[in-house]
Amino acid sequence: MHLSRLLEQNVETYGEYTSLIYEGQSFSNLDHLRLAQGWAQELHHQGVDRGDTVLVSMPNRPEVFFVYSAIAMLGAITVPVMPLLQGDEILFIARDCQPKVMITCEMMQKKLENVAQQLNPPPKVLAVERHQPGKRDTAAFTFLDECKDEDIGVILYTSGTTGQPKGVELTHNNLVANAQAAAELAKDYDFGGAEHVGLLILPLSHAFGYTMMNVSILRGERNIMLPHFDPLLVLQAIQTYRVTHFSAVPAMFHALLHHPERSRFDVTSLALCISGSAPLPVSEREQFEQAFDCVIFEGYGLSEAAPIVTAPRFNLPVKPGSVGLPLPGVEVRVVNEQGQFLPNGDVGELIVKGPNVTRGYHGLPEITHETLRDGWLYTGDVGYMDSDGYVFVVDRKKDVIIRGGFNIYPRDLEDLLIRHPAVLEAAVIGVPSEAMGEEVMAFIVKRPGIEIHEETLLQYCQKHLAKYKTPRWVKFIPFMPKNVIGKIDRKRLKTMWSKQDE
Ligand code: ATP
Repeated sequence: MHLSRLLEQNVETYGEYTSLIYEGQSFSNLDHLRLAQGWAQELHHQGVDRGDTVLVSMPNRPEVFFVYSAIAMLGAITVPVMPLLQGDEILFIARDCQPKVMITCEMMQKKLENVAQQLNPPPKVLAVERHQPGKRDTAAFTFLDECKDEDIGVILYTSGTTGQPKGVELTHNNLVANAQAAAELAKDYDFGGAEHVGLLILPLSHAFGYTMMNVSILRGERNIMLPHFDPLLVLQAIQTYRVTHFSAVPAMFHALLHHPERSRFDVTSLALCISGSAPLPVSEREQFEQAFDCVIFEGYGLSEAAPIVTAPRFNLPVKPGSVGLPLPGVEVRVVNEQGQFLPNGDVGELIVKGPNVTRGYHGLPEITHETLRDGWLYTGDVGYMDSDGYVFVVDRKKDVIIRGGFNIYPRDLEDLLIRHPAVLEAAVIGVPSEAMGEEVMAFIVKRPGIEIHEETLLQYCQKHLAKYKTPRWVKFIPFMPKNVIGKIDRKRLKTMWSKQDE
């Protein structure tokens, strides 16, 4: 199905229903459609045609919804870009995808204009505040005649945690198939009669936020939108709007759980949270569920799979540490280095097949060839499946530490370290060693007000881990470096380690 049909379908069923509330403004589904049609005409007027790319970078605000829908209506390609990226990072993406137009907000206009000037030809930069096209009722005006469901609808740039960002080309079919499968699962969740009120805090410029937006359009849900993630604003919004559910990344759950004013707020309406994008430590999930009296369901995905691959089922038991079962229509297998299927329980690389899987990276035929083999997407993630088909992600292949020939998964060590009462956050990396190939180094953020020495944590690890896994060094740091979506920035930790050596 074409992305633009999502909204049309939604309006047929939920037209007048309020779908979005943002800073006191409310929008119905019909408003969304008409404003998107207005934007489609405006963009058409600015020269955007079928197949052109349009880069969109701004904090969450209603126009992001409208503009994304408008670009789909034109059969053009949306390139969502995280607003927190630096000018040079946006330039890298813009050079790669050559946008016809870049859409932003006044606050970011200068940054994008600087980027535009370095491109040839320079794209137009539109700030949404200055280009409010208004609502249109253009039912008779159809842009979609030649558009196909197999056309590329979105290019999502990965966050580049393992190298330069890569533009993942996703077709309309990929994106809609993924949102439909996720929306299908959501039907089984019982909110006990409460009106469903979602809170949109994930950036709409990231794969996870983008898809959850499509899921909520499909389900005709009401969403409270916040411009950016601020734990205090989230707690206030849950209380004010009686929010029942939201999706977030582990760093957000962490910030909410440890917020000093948390207990001031009435969060009793909250029933369900969805976590994805990075591993959520089991201990952190349990503490959050207890503190907020809700459940967290953890799924797994990657941009290349549009993005959701697995999710727990609401009518089946949740297994601690698991990311659930493959989405309906999606197959997951575990393979060894030779690409041979492994039996249940054996650890290997997770591979994925399904209607959500990308057909490749923008302008990168070699990496595409390496990543997509015989119709399978090689995820670069290490994991296993149990006999009930539940998937467990062990770690990223690139993060595995090989010390003296033995594989060590940083996540195992991080999960152990974070259970120590003095540890707030932990990250483990491999650092080069002449004797062992790699050595294990743990970076720790201590809980405030607790005194502890590195040696004590080393002894704790020695007590609980096989000798070969025990970190060689523990280093306390004041805060954990994270990327714009809140994933631990291991590249930065490695730089911190090498600088310390100088
Ligand atoms: P890059 O590929 O450029 O390094 P990125 O990995 O951040 O960027 P995304 O597509 O945003 O790109 O992230 C997908 C990755 O996130 C997965 O391959 C996996 O390593 C990790 N991930 C997602 N969900 C989970 C989860 N529940 N548990 C563990 N890891 C997860």
